[in-house]
Amino acid sequence: MIGSQGSESMWWRYRRQLVDLLLPTAEDRPLEFLQTVSNWAKVNGVFYSFSLSGWNMEVTYPSLLLLLSDRAGEFVIEDPKLAINESKRVLQQAYEGAPSSVHHVYSVVDLASEVDWIVAQFAIVTADEACPRCKQSGLEYWVDSVMNTIMFSCSECGGEFTIDRRAIVNTHPVRPALRQDLQKESLSLRGDRGKKSWWAKTLWQ
Ligand SMILES: [Zn+2]
Repeated sequence: MIGSQGSESMWWRYRRQLVDLLLPTAEDRPLEFLQTVSNWAKVNGVFYSFSLSGWNMEVTYPSLLLLLSDRAGEFVIEDPKLAINESKRVLQQAYEGAPSSVHHVYSVVDLASEVDWIVAQFAIVTADEACPRCKQSGLEYWVDSVMNTIMFSCSECGGEFTIDRRAIVNTHPVRPALRQDLQKESLSLRGDRGKKSWWAKTLWQ
């Protein structure tokens, strides 16, 4: 059990360090922001025992795992200023114990969830089109880590689809799609579909 490896106050101390590190920073450059989070995690070794304890980070905290694997430089970052401000707001609320905060941290598991959520704000790319199933605009680009194929996952209904919009039931670990995944896929998308998706416009126009 993870909790048996440290007291609750230790996790509160780790989180206090994280908040103290991030809140005063004025920079809005996403990579520096993520590097600060990464350095904090590595200096503390806060997730080290976590990764050894039988929890599968690849399944449960894919964005955090990308950060700890030094892959933040491969993120496609859509609107970093908003994400940084939002991340700081969440941290501030958690730190102050605001009643509206759902990000209370009582263990390393909670801390991992919180940091994974923050990193996901930078890592996950949303498609500019409606979900084939629920018709909401929550389609995100993910990658099947075993097959190394890009896919859609809908944040609204949980539906998963191939890049051709066929519904699938994925049983493999997935991670947010990185820049190289999207660049690779855009080559066939351009030819097959006759139009570029938003990220292709962002990267190459
Ligand atoms: Zn949906």
